[in-house]
Amino acid sequence: MRYRGSAHKYGGSLRWNRVLLAGGLSLALLALMMVLLARGQAGPATGDTPTPQLTFTAEPTPMPQPTEPPRVYVPDELPDWIEEDLLPINEWSRPGTPMEAMTGIVVHYVGNPGTTAKQNRNYFAWLAEDHTTSASSNFIIGLEGEIILCVPIGEVAYCSKDRNIDTLSIEVCHPDESGKFNQASYDSLIKLVNWLRNIYDLDTDAVIRHYDVTGKECPRYFVKHPEAWDTFLEDLKKAETE
Ligand SMILES: [Zn+2]
Repeated sequence: MRYRGSAHKYGGSLRWNRVLLAGGLSLALLALMMVLLARGQAGPATGDTPTPQLTFTAEPTPMPQPTEPPRVYVPDELPDWIEEDLLPINEWSRPGTPMEAMTGIVVHYVGNPGTTAKQNRNYFAWLAEDHTTSASSNFIIGLEGEIILCVPIGEVAYCSKDRNIDTLSIEVCHPDESGKFNQASYDSLIKLVNWLRNIYDLDTDAVIRHYDVTGKECPRYFVKHPEAWDTFLEDLKKAETE
């Protein structure tokens, strides 16, 4: 047993020698490459030569445009309290399909407590790569009251099933599982809905919950507390005159 053990040990040490030799050669090669690279980057030692910038000769890929013009009125300019951060046109979150009419506004909650408007916008954009599901909304309101437009007004978003074709959708972020909007988000929702109601001459009964379209518990707090939804509709009316 001892003999076999030592023979094994001997064979092992031969193998190790080869490994060490190969390792040493690789290290030497790596060191040589690093020296060459460092020389290449250093450039002339004048001290004030600007670092060469990477230049891209290829033209940037143009963002695909919707193939059809919008069929509903689209305001020329957005107010400065709406940030436009459009999704790329793709079949999973922004099909580029024109809305056929604009008859209502559908309110949603994101269903993912504590996430920001930007994160939800990026999630919709990521669906174009991920292909697991299709979802999006025209607007997202964040926890700080920020408003992102990610599917243009006049284009179909994937949010409200059968009503995608004739309504604009607003997703609202929320701090916790209850789905209750914080004051900043709530105030922005009032501002945005009233801005849209004014443009499209819509009464408050054109403002509906996702629940009213499909029966889904969305926006959760306003489904569980219908009286809070009624208060919201009253707040829309009140804010008209302010
Ligand atoms: Zn919804």
